[in-house]
Amino acid sequence: MGIRSVFDGGELRREVEKSGIDPKFIPKIWKHILISAKDEDWDWEKQVPSLPSSAYSLLRSNFKTPLSSSIHSVFHSADNLTTKLLIQLHHNHGPFVEAVIMRYDTRLGKYAGQPRPGGLRATLCISSQVGCKMGCNFCATGSMGFKNNLSSGEIVEQLVHASTFSQIRNVVFMGMGEPLNNYSAVVEAVRIMTGLPFQLSSKRITISTVGIIHAINKLHDDLPGLNLAVSLHAPAQDIRCQIMPAARAFPLGKLMDSLQVYQRKSLQKIFIEYIMLDGVNDEEHHAHLLGKLLETFQVVVNLIPFNSIGTLSQFKPTSEQKVSNFQKILRGTYNIRTTVRKQMGQDISGACGQLLVNISDKSLGTAVPLTDIEDIVI
Ligand code: SF4
Repeated sequence: MGIRSVFDGGELRREVEKSGIDPKFIPKIWKHILISAKDEDWDWEKQVPSLPSSAYSLLRSNFKTPLSSSIHSVFHSADNLTTKLLIQLHHNHGPFVEAVIMRYDTRLGKYAGQPRPGGLRATLCISSQVGCKMGCNFCATGSMGFKNNLSSGEIVEQLVHASTFSQIRNVVFMGMGEPLNNYSAVVEAVRIMTGLPFQLSSKRITISTVGIIHAINKLHDDLPGLNLAVSLHAPAQDIRCQIMPAARAFPLGKLMDSLQVYQRKSLQKIFIEYIMLDGVNDEEHHAHLLGKLLETFQVVVNLIPFNSIGTLSQFKPTSEQKVSNFQKILRGTYNIRTTVRKQMGQDISGACGQLLVNISDKSLGTAVPLTDIEDIVI
């Protein structure tokens, strides 16, 4: 396949080198695109000055416009804290993916009893695939099935689009798709995001996976320093298989062994995501099983209240009281740092597990104030 996007870093580098152009110009090209991404009439000479003439010929022949994707629709939550971008790929002829910007004020949160330092910041929840083949039963994206892998450039373009709305400080791969099923594109996209001109800190990038063991085994070597979040969602293999069919291929024991090795190498805490499903995985004995499973790890558990996805799922949310009891057991008995994810963007279907391309979905209601994985990542 040729270059889909000017942000397909590896492909672009190969083309640039083949044409005898110094690859040092690539970050410069990206910087000017980032600055002028909103410009309607694109002229490579005007918007990206001072390149060698061979670079202009290469850019003009490969890219009529600087971005291969475009924003089709924008949905703002009623409190303006969440913005969902519906992005169309392949120059208005391709499929759609969603990216969600979540803004919040760190000073609203507490750390060691004090308001957190910082201020306003924005996290971008990014998609890595069109649809997803993992088929988790509680997830709207899973109901779409798998359609396509995004290229590294198509992943990075979501950051470029989002940057025209907010200054993005954190990126979480928790949108559509299983990032580790599109491994090489995701690795390249993260490398681009941490380099010039984006320069995001790898500490502020989180990859969330259902637990693709062979990919976890090489992740630290390929991308040291980033955050790993594992969608565990159950403390036992049989319950995992019931709600996440893909878990059959990744037995819980083997997954935990691979996380042990990952933690020994990375020396970083691992984030455990646990969606609370009424009567399925939210009883006291589940909390004790989870506590025992995680006792020997440095982890932060993030309990996620289930978002209704209408008729797409038979599950019901756990009551607040039960969530709170679950949290108390993990904290009190097992001394495991455990947070409850506050919900945001539910009114625009931008919350966790709700990303499902639905062009007619323009419903707006009232969103709830938030914290985010960012609050536990830092
Ligand atoms: S929860 Fe994640 S891995 Fe599971 S189906 Fe949804 S997008 Fe895919």
